[in-house]
Amino acid sequence: MKENFALAVDLGATKIQSALISEGGEIIEKIKEETKKEGKDGKIITKQIISQLKRLIKKESEILGIGIGSIGPIDYKRGEIKNTPNLPFKKIPLISPLKKIFGLPVFLLNDCNAGVLGEKYFGAGKKFENLVYVTISSGIGGGAIVNGKLILGKGGNAVEIGHMIVETKYNLMCSCKKGKGHWEAYCSGNNLLRFFKVWLKERKIKINRYPKKAKEIFEMAKRGEKIAKEFLLKEVGKINAKAISNLIVAYDPELITLGGAVVLNNPEFILPPIEKYIDHFLPYLPKIKITPLKEDIILLGSAAFVFLNK
Ligand SMILES: [Zn+2]
Repeated sequence: MKENFALAVDLGATKIQSALISEGGEIIEKIKEETKKEGKDGKIITKQIISQLKRLIKKESEILGIGIGSIGPIDYKRGEIKNTPNLPFKKIPLISPLKKIFGLPVFLLNDCNAGVLGEKYFGAGKKFENLVYVTISSGIGGGAIVNGKLILGKGGNAVEIGHMIVETKYNLMCSCKKGKGHWEAYCSGNNLLRFFKVWLKERKIKINRYPKKAKEIFEMAKRGEKIAKEFLLKEVGKINAKAISNLIVAYDPELITLGGAVVLNNPEFILPPIEKYIDHFLPYLPKIKITPLKEDIILLGSAAFVFLNK
């Protein structure tokens, strides 16, 4: 029997990945490039995706459709990305230009909604009907499956958990510029360094050499530097635990998986403090683990959405 395939796209602010994926979840071929950001017209992204997909199409394979997991917010009905805070374009048209060129069904999902679907169909969530996926990378996002159903919301942007309010003492403005105290304002790759500096100042701590990137705070901690360890394991850990506690009472999941570059590169500084500081309101806690699908989770989830809708 001929095997079915899907084309999957992971559209991120720093990189765009595309892949040809089999119905069994095997990644046959993958392309990864830096996201193009030149000019003012978002069609530059549309063209980049089209070029990647053309390179992936194999004549002999049966391709059922194209699934796109994208940074948000997405306009689910129009099939485009609108005013995303992380790219300099007002609009990135996706569904209609891709349909026109490839003559295939095209599906657009928020990236973390695609992520949780990837976990359910190809990852750690196969046995579960209730699961949440959380990504901590440049930003923070999430996706949830409740009673076996992917939660999409009115406009396909449900579970934008990076913008839940989790902190009021430092009350930092979020990168979304729409509010203060959002989870993403503290623990995301883009904001961790600022939080570190604010925290040092508040505690009147002076250090010899200030890090220039979030990554360097983790490197300091890995070298055993006490201040960086305390910041990550206590301060950041407590905020992450608070946010995860909110997710547990909101969705009552059996499993929470964590992904995104900040988590995947530093699991030893992320997972233990969450387990230590998490609230125990519910008499049972979900399993919390790092996603085994690593950086392919959004691609796999986008492909799963195609197979589910064939
Ligand atoms: Zn926000």
